[in-house]
Amino acid sequence: MAWFKKIRKPIEPQAKKESRVPEGLWVKCPSCAEIIYNKDLAATMSVCPKCAHHFRLGAVERLRLLFDGDWEEFDAGLQSNDPLQFVDTKPYKNRLSATISATGMKDAVVSAIGQIDGIETSVAAMEYTFIGGSMGVVVGEKITRAIERAIERRLPVVIVSASGGARMMEGALSLMQMAKISAALARLDRARLPYVSVLTDPTTGGVTASFAMLGDVNVAEPKALIGFAGPRVIEQTIRQKLPEGFQRSEFLLEHGMLDMVVDRRDLKATIARVLRFAIAARADAPAAEVEQPAEVPASQS
Ligand SMILES: [Zn+2]
Repeated sequence: MAWFKKIRKPIEPQAKKESRVPEGLWVKCPSCAEIIYNKDLAATMSVCPKCAHHFRLGAVERLRLLFDGDWEEFDAGLQSNDPLQFVDTKPYKNRLSATISATGMKDAVVSAIGQIDGIETSVAAMEYTFIGGSMGVVVGEKITRAIERAIERRLPVVIVSASGGARMMEGALSLMQMAKISAALARLDRARLPYVSVLTDPTTGGVTASFAMLGDVNVAEPKALIGFAGPRVIEQTIRQKLPEGFQRSEFLLEHGMLDMVVDRRDLKATIARVLRFAIAARADAPAAEVEQPAEVPASQS
């Protein structure tokens, strides 16, 4: 008689789960499969110590990484009021309230002023976990105000993008934000203040098509997905196979769409260097008339 006999049925294999970054103690790198202790990851700015894969960062973590210390947040209370009363698989109103309670944020961007290596800067950082970092009315308004605040106080601007593009639940109103932010950036430019755009994984759609590509210097993180339409849509449209690495930072740098690809661990120092250079260049230039933002004339009743 055999000592070991299979009496019970073997345990059924578990249904295969999509591997994602858990909030547990350990994280698996999606690039090299290295198992990383969560606290180690925090120490390396969420960059894999083995293969330098850049994990996605939330807006608040991003600000913590860029600023020297504390910062002052603005417009934290702005919230979408569902202007179109939009319903897709579920009402937008419900989607919004669920996301607000899950993330503790009111919309997909955090706007703040703080010091980057001693340079006071107006920063807007996008939050991808908030409905795909999509740009609706609130995101557009908060970024526009961050730029206008910078003009008022004579500060440089840094915008960190992480977005799937315009928020379809707000329709044409979200598309309008592209023009609104771009116009504010034009005023910033006329006021001779620098703007550094930081493109992180992913930056797509209307965000790429507007402010993310309008930086005086456009900086991307390594291997970030940056594009307008997705590769599948493009392949189906042009009926051609796309080249290797298409829509990744390095490819875009090589093709002149970006100025720099910078490792996250060097990002703050690089931004500070760019800002210092831009500010010094302005000081050297002959004094130019600094234009104030145009006042909207009061309507005559
Ligand atoms: Zn890795």
